[in-house]
This record gives sequence, structure tokens and C-alpha cells, in this order.
Amino acid sequence: MEKIKVSALAKELNKTSKELLAILKDVGVDAKTAASSIDPESAKIVRDLLSPKTATAPDTAPKRQSDTATHPVPASKPTPEPIPTPEPMPKTIRIPENGIILKDFADKLNARSSDIIKELMKKGIMATLNQKISSEMAQDIGAGFSFNVEIDVPPPAATKEIEVEMTAEETKKLKSRPPVVTIMGHVDHGKTKLLDTIRSTKVAESEAGGITQHIGAYQVQIKGRKITFLDTPGHEAFTALRARGAKVTDVAIIVVAADDGVMPQTIEAIDHAKAAGVPIIVAINKVDKPDANPDHVKQQLSELGLQPEEWGGSTVTVPVSAKQKTGIDELLEMILLVADLQELKANPDAKAVGVVIESRLDKGKGPIATLLIKNGTLYVGDIFTLGATSGKIRALISDKGERTKKATPSTPVEISGIAEVPIPGDILQVMDNEKEAKNMAEQNKILRSTPVSHTLQTLEEFSKEVEGGEVLDLNLIIKADVQGSLEALIASLKEINVESKRVNIIHSGVGNISESDVLLAEASKAILIGFHVDIDNRAREISEAENIRVKIYDIIYKLLDDVKMALEGSLKIEYEEVVIGKAEVRQTFKFSKVGVISGCFVISGKMLRGAGMRIFRNNEKIYEGKMESLKRFKEDVKEVMEGYECGIAIVGYEGFKQGDIIECFEMREKTRK
Ligand code: GDP
Repeated sequence: MEKIKVSALAKELNKTSKELLAILKDVGVDAKTAASSIDPESAKIVRDLLSPKTATAPDTAPKRQSDTATHPVPASKPTPEPIPTPEPMPKTIRIPENGIILKDFADKLNARSSDIIKELMKKGIMATLNQKISSEMAQDIGAGFSFNVEIDVPPPAATKEIEVEMTAEETKKLKSRPPVVTIMGHVDHGKTKLLDTIRSTKVAESEAGGITQHIGAYQVQIKGRKITFLDTPGHEAFTALRARGAKVTDVAIIVVAADDGVMPQTIEAIDHAKAAGVPIIVAINKVDKPDANPDHVKQQLSELGLQPEEWGGSTVTVPVSAKQKTGIDELLEMILLVADLQELKANPDAKAVGVVIESRLDKGKGPIATLLIKNGTLYVGDIFTLGATSGKIRALISDKGERTKKATPSTPVEISGIAEVPIPGDILQVMDNEKEAKNMAEQNKILRSTPVSHTLQTLEEFSKEVEGGEVLDLNLIIKADVQGSLEALIASLKEINVESKRVNIIHSGVGNISESDVLLAEASKAILIGFHVDIDNRAREISEAENIRVKIYDIIYKLLDDVKMALEGSLKIEYEEVVIGKAEVRQTFKFSKVGVISGCFVISGKMLRGAGMRIFRNNEKIYEGKMESLKRFKEDVKEVMEGYECGIAIVGYEGFKQGDIIECFEMREKTRK
């Protein structure tokens, strides 16, 4: 079709050019004068809009529905019918929470844009083709077209790191803040002792009376500058916070005992710090011991890719003795040096944002949380949202156990005045008023109860992303039963190279899949694979709660094949059939218009609308299809449980007979070995 001049179209539609230009403007078609040409599609929209004969779906659809609702049974039928006529099931479409462009919405509804514009006009809204309509409006209009419009809810904000977007003005207000340090390393290498030594040498001597209580973090001073230490050593705590979306640590100290050397948890700790992108300083501890061998430790570190500075690399190592309190100042100075490279800054004038690092219920004070202030300054009396709860700061207690009036960036502080006990990783945000704070908490609570879909958790999902054109490196965590298999696996995995996509092993180790592996997978969007190993109970609990799937292989080739196929984008999810319930046909009802409806009793499991179904008679399958309509009395229902009656109907099938067994089944993702 060709373009048409405005003047010609106006004539055809019995309008003046001026009238038509106004209409065109309303529907978003760019035409300036009577001599302008418009494209055939736009012309059609205007013709449809102005033509009185055009029948539109919404005018008739709702009416038809209400007709059937008020007259479910033909008036001539003498007996009341237990199960009403099944109505055509509305199709479901999904749209974004913040609305949808009119044109795209029309496509989804399989309708003409002009029909949507007309419907909006009836509601007094003049909309153009490229205009966004609200999700509520889309639901309203969709219903008229017999569509069920569902709204996509974005992922929970409560568990996400708060990205503070800054204007140039705000950037000017940024000031340096102290670094926040976490100590990690193998058990018994001296993490706790080192934390105690740093605290006692740097705090106790300067504060009268020393520290009376621990609040989960403390600050020390060196050369007039502050450093914040998190008092919960270990990579599990570190990664658990990260898995919840909270980035707290700026520098990781990996403690290695000079007499024991690098051990499995040392490697784990290094991998966790690396995966988080946090710079590492190695404290070579216990150098006072007669069998201490710092050079051996440095050698081991080099083999792990952490070449010490004095050997030409970039890893800072500091010999210390937590017991004899030597090397502590050097360690602290190195922390400042490494931190300076990161230019850590925050705006102390902003409303406070903080992260919970510890929480508990105190008998006297109620819910208590230790926060680390990320940005802004927190004051007594501030009203806040804290994860799914809210409150007003009643008291602030410093790391020295003293009451204080405010807490600045990177300062640890204990707060009271919270409505409920929050969880570590929860974000505190200061709000303008109580109403806002409560609303926000309520929203967070709702979001938290909707399951989080992790973007990558299986090779199949990764494969799908590759198929969809995303070029990604594949992050893997691999656990194997013995060192030999692990090394062979890693070597083979590193050789796989599909169209410049690579396997990136962020952690590997010998032994069962542990809690820390699951947390690391979650925090780093890595895929967790086991070879000939089991999964620890605690790890299983977390993986189930957080919906992180773990795949365990028994055959090396299968594992390598799956990884290769995932990188190629050709690994498909395998499904298996699972029978979810059985029902018996107890009665049948025949209707002249609809056909036969079976009145059933669920004898086991449940019946699920939309699931697959088969009908058996004398153990022989006589029908297979989909459970199209499922009712309890007059109501359409999603499912009916064992021990209840229901009505089942299938369009175009009338063969139900008393005594038939209806089997309901679902296709579920296969858990492969
Ligand atoms: P963690 O499990 O890493 O927290 O280790 P701890 O801090 O509990 O220390 C384990 C053991 O090593 C304790 O008995 C400490 O006293 C001892 N220890 C820690 N640091 C040193 C040190 O620098 N020298 C010596 N000789 N012993 C130490």
C-alpha cells in the first residue's frame, strides 16, 4: 500500500484537513499540513477510529461473559445442575510493572492499536501509539479483550545493594571514609587472636577502662586515621553478607600461620575475597614460633597466583605475631596504603544508609542491631526503614560501649528502637516520616515473600542465555572427592574454549559441598557442580531455602560435555513426568451447549488446572490431553486436593463415564546425576 496525503484521506473520511490533522496529532502520527503524506498503517488506524462500523472486541466480550454468568443453565432445564458451564479460559499475558507502550500492548493482545486507542478514548484518555499506558490501565483494557494481564514484579529491593546515584553536587560533598576490614583464614591460624591483639593494643591503651562490650565491629586509630574491623572473622560470614547483597568489606586480611602454611580454608578464603573483588593483604602469623617458615608461605602464595611484593608481585604480605604483638603497626599501615588506592569516599551530610552486621533480641532494650554506616550520618531520633521493619533510633552505642549522638560513614554502631529484629545484611535507610518508613518496610516484606529468581544457577540456564545471544564467561565452583579427579577436571575444563567464551573457576576444592560453597555460588552468580561428592546438611538446607540448585555428576565426560554444551548454548533442560494426583469420575452431566462435565472425587494427590491429564478405563488409557477446566461448585479453581470433589471438563471431549480414573501429571525439571 502506498502513502496517502492528509487532504485525500480527509476527503475520504468526510473531514476537513484541519480536523484530520488534529486527530492525527492525538494518535501520535507526525503530519504537519494537508499536503503531508502519512503511511498506510497510520491511515488504517485513523480509518478504523473514524469508521462507525468497526466492531470491537471489548464492546461484546464482557457482555457475553455476564450473560453466561446470569444464565448459567438454560431456563428450560428442570433440574438444577451442580457444575456450571465452563467458560473460555482467559489467556494470560505479562507486562512490566511500570506500564507498556500502547503499540506493544496491542501486539500482545493480538488486537489493533486503533481498538486500544478507542477503548482509552471511552475512558476519556487520548493516547498515542508510542505512549506508555499504566499497568493498571492495561489490566482494565486487557480484561475487555478477555485477557488476564499479569504484572511482572521486579526483584526484591530489600536484599539488593543500594546504589546511590549521585549528582555532581553530591559528588562534591564526598569525603574520605575509613576502610572496613574482614579477617579470614584457616581455623587455628590466629584470626581471633589477631583481632583481639589489634583491639587491645590500639584501643584499650588509649581508652580509660578499655572495652566493656563487643558490638560486632570496632575501630582503631593509626597515624590519626581510623580503620574499622569486622569482629566476625571468616569467609562464611563475609560471603553470607555478600549473598544478601551487602558489600561491606573494603580490604580482606588473610591470616596464614607461618608454621602451618596454606591450608584448604586459606584457599577458600582467598577465593572468596577474589570473587568479591576485594583486595587482599596476607598476615603471616605466628612468626614467633621456632618452626615458623614465612618463606614457605610466600612460596605457596606465589603458586596460588598471589606473588608477594618483595618477590616482584603485587601481594602485600606482613609478618606478624598476634601472641607477641609484633608487626601490628606495619599491618595497619599496609591496610591504609591498600585502602588509599581505592579512594574510599562517602557523603557524611546525606541521610544515613547502613548495613546490619549483627542482630539480637535484648530482654531490656528489645530488638538490637549492629550497623555499619555506608553513607550519610545516623542521628538519635532518626526515623528509618530497616529491611522489612522500621523504627526510630532510641539510642546509639559506640564500639566502646558508650552512648553517642551520631554515627558517620564506616562507623560501627549499635542501635535500639527497632520494631522487630532485622537480619544481617538488611539495609537501614533514614526516611522523612514514620508513614513513609512503614510503607517502605511493608513493601520490602512483600517483596521478600516473593521467591527470588537467581539469574544463573544451572548450566541449562546459562546455556539459554548463550542461546539468546549473551556472551558470558561461565563462573564455576567445583568440588570433587579426591585431589586427582579435581586436577584432571580443572585441566580439562580450562581447555574448553567455545567461541572465545571461557570457563572461569572461581573456587575448587576437595570434599563435600559446604555452606560456604553455596553462599559463594549465590553471591558470585556461579554454578555449583560436584563430582562424586555429597552435599552437607546445612548446605542442602540453604540451597533449598535460597533455591540454588546443585548438580552432582558421577561421570567426568558427562560433566565436561554439559559444560561444553552450555557454552555453545545447546544444553537443554531435561524434563520428566511426575504424576501429581488421581481422581475418579463419580457422575457425568450432559449439556446441550457445552458437552459433558465429569463430577469427580480426588482420590490421591491433587488435580491441577493446566496440568496434563489422562483418562483410564479398566486400566487402559482412553484419552490424553490437558486439564482445561477445573471447578469447585461454581468457582474456577487452580487446584483441588485429595478428599474433595471437583468438576472437570475438556472442550470437544464427551467420553467421560462413571468409574473412569483421571490421572493428572506435570512435567518437571529432571535432576540428573
Ligand atoms: P582462629 O581459629 O583462626 O580464630 O585462631 P585463634 O585466634 O583461636 O588461635 C589459635 C591458637 O593459636 C590459639 O591457641 C592462639 O593462642 C594461638 N596463636 C594465635 N596467634 C599466635 C601467634 O602469633 N603465635 C603463637 N605462638 N600462637 C598464636
